[in-house]
Amino acid sequence: MARDSTRSVHGTEELDKLTGSVLAPIYQTVTFGFKKADEVAKAVTGESGDFVYTRWDNPTTRILEKKLADLEGAADCAFFSSGMAAISTAVLANVKKGDHVLATRDLYGEAYRLIHDVLPGFGVSTTLVDTDDLRAMEQHVRKNTRVVYTETPTNPTLKLVDIRGAAKIARSVKAKLIVDNTFSSPIGQQPLKLGADIVVHAATKYLSGHSDVMAGAAAGRKEDIDRIRRMRKVLGGTLDPHAAFLVIRGIKTLAIRMQKHNDTAAALAAFLESHSKVKRVNYPGLESHPQHALAKRQMKGCGGMLSFELKGSIKDAMHFTESLKVATLGASLGAVETLVVQPATMTHTQLTPGDRRRTGISDTLIRVSVGIEDAEDLIDDFEQALAKVRVGPA
Ligand SMILES: *Cc1c(COP(=O)(O)O)cnc(C)c1O
Repeated sequence: MARDSTRSVHGTEELDKLTGSVLAPIYQTVTFGFKKADEVAKAVTGESGDFVYTRWDNPTTRILEKKLADLEGAADCAFFSSGMAAISTAVLANVKKGDHVLATRDLYGEAYRLIHDVLPGFGVSTTLVDTDDLRAMEQHVRKNTRVVYTETPTNPTLKLVDIRGAAKIARSVKAKLIVDNTFSSPIGQQPLKLGADIVVHAATKYLSGHSDVMAGAAAGRKEDIDRIRRMRKVLGGTLDPHAAFLVIRGIKTLAIRMQKHNDTAAALAAFLESHSKVKRVNYPGLESHPQHALAKRQMKGCGGMLSFELKGSIKDAMHFTESLKVATLGASLGAVETLVVQPATMTHTQLTPGDRRRTGISDTLIRVSVGIEDAEDLIDDFEQALAKVRVGPA
């Protein structure tokens, strides 16, 4: 049962003990009843392991949590109502007033806001360093750094963080290294095996894979996940049991989807790199990627996310995105359908133009979440949309 697809389909799941149901039952209930009063006491303290109240724990969600823990090589996992619920709860479970958080600069928008804007208001100081610069991380880590937070590959420029290197730096001050593994999924890379302490996910994306459910997760050692669960009880970002069922169903095809995402993205990246109206392509699987060697070391597959810069103006790039017919112009990623965004006008408008330039987000950068359509159809679609763009000044 060791391989990716078998684990995605079966993993830790068992036939339902009561009925033999092949799929996880949906325990769509808020609360659980008891026959004896002393059973309640034992359940509330956690002594018996019985379920009490769904904000704390739910049997369907538990089945999902074991399944993702298995895929990430984690002892335990906690699920949440969104990726941001998972990220904020995992970070807040590990910091208090007077602590320091060190993070890489290229982060998902709201994760950036949490670390850059929200934490300092609670007395937690934060430092952001360039994503591909381990030396800066080494320089800025402090004795009171409790969390090193990072994301790899990054959104939307597909830079990589050396997880092994970051783990060593975090360990040197006994901080927890938290890695957002949304872009790779556990099929593409397993940060815990590379030394991370906690992996977080927007399960809204690849894990679910069908743009139909919001969910998030944190996975890691038992004591770390216990602490995060206690914080989840307080903050309340628990996953609904029906949504848990949808994520379980999504994960069943995770490995086969990721293979297709990898292959199609590689084909589209190669096509774009050879096109005269494209200035550059960011995809870790391309030999031209500055960290291609690191990608080969720490990733099993390079995933379905890529971005590229068009020659021309911001208007040309907008015109290109409007001209696509198979791909859809829209936020989100990691699903079966191909989605494109222009970060400068859509997802990264909160950054100043200077900050955007600094992180490599030019006006004509286009991020593509490559779906599982046929590569030939996607290439044809991008080709016809590129044909509609005039060749602007390089
Ligand atoms: C989407 C996303 C998130 C946030 O997930 P939500 O489910 O939208 O809250 C966090 N990190 C990354 C890398 C994402 O792509």
